[in-house]
Amino acid sequence: MKDIRTLSLDQLTDYFKEIGDKPFRAKQVYDWLWSKNLHSFDEMTNLSKNLRDQLSQDFVINPVSVDLLQKSSDGTIKNGVRLHDGLMVESVLIPTETRTTACVSSQVGCSLNCEFCATAKLKRMRNLEVAEIVDQVALIDRQSRLYFERPLSNIVFMGMGEPMMNYKNVVEAVRKITQPEGLGMSPRRITVSTSGIPKMIRMLADDQLKVKLALSLHSAIESKRNEIMPFSSKFPLTEIMEALQYWYQQTGSVITFEYCVWKGINDGDEDIRALIRYCRQVPSKVNLIQYNPIGEGKFDHRNVKAEEKYVRELEKAGITIMVRKSRGGDIDAACGQLANKSAER
Ligand code: SAH
Repeated sequence: MKDIRTLSLDQLTDYFKEIGDKPFRAKQVYDWLWSKNLHSFDEMTNLSKNLRDQLSQDFVINPVSVDLLQKSSDGTIKNGVRLHDGLMVESVLIPTETRTTACVSSQVGCSLNCEFCATAKLKRMRNLEVAEIVDQVALIDRQSRLYFERPLSNIVFMGMGEPMMNYKNVVEAVRKITQPEGLGMSPRRITVSTSGIPKMIRMLADDQLKVKLALSLHSAIESKRNEIMPFSSKFPLTEIMEALQYWYQQTGSVITFEYCVWKGINDGDEDIRALIRYCRQVPSKVNLIQYNPIGEGKFDHRNVKAEEKYVRELEKAGITIMVRKSRGGDIDAACGQLANKSAER
């Protein structure tokens, strides 16, 4: 049966016309589905019993459910989210003093092959539906209210998957999350993180969603980046930079480069110089992410001295650099550790 959440408001309106009911019903139902995130027709209290029955005969609302909830000693909550077809993704709530951030997935698995990433070990199984992305946000918002007595404040597309490879649904989900007739969150508090697909970066710029953009860089030396992130050999760094410059022209929004420092891989002075040269070409800042080992050996060792040098040298060059402490490491909820065990089932 058809999931009612695959229908647009117009299509819903047509449906109500067809069954001889008032078109404004569409608005009421849309509100229950997208603003209140309701998963059952029975709870739509402003509809008659007859109409609710009719809706449940004609449609389903595919549920997502939290299969496994794990709390980290630092407050981070990892959710194993079960989809209607049995597959799993992971969604993480990350609390700080002032914010609650939802780290959400865009795909089950991932088709890219970043050597250091746990999700890359899974194959891409499928794209998430719009509703499945919105549901992750809504459920983390509920958890934030329950456990931290405040609403969700930020969303990052840094869970499983490459958001740009599920572009249409990610964009539609962002619309549903930000529309006043949806969850009504500010797009400026949403960050789309990508491994860097130039054509899609341009498209996102043109779509004027007002979200922030993060690019997983990890090395500004072409050959090295291609080794760490093999798929990226299709996308030269110069092409990515041109797309980022285009992004900035269109949106005026500063780009964040995500960067891990690995011992013996990208901890040399030439790596730092290359990063500075790259950053200078577009208004940007750098997030130095503490890598979370996934047992890949090669990437398991940090070089704290080199991290400090990155910070010193970038600051000297006038580039903003922030060091991001890892969160939720004790429950495998730290970035790039998601997936696996449950998704494989
Ligand atoms: N595919 C998108 C979004 C998901 S990955 C992207 O590549 O941006 C989110 C971020 O986590 C990326 O910056 C990625 O490089 C980083 N990451 C992946 N595995 C990691 C790990 N084990 N430790 C720290 N960061 C990791």
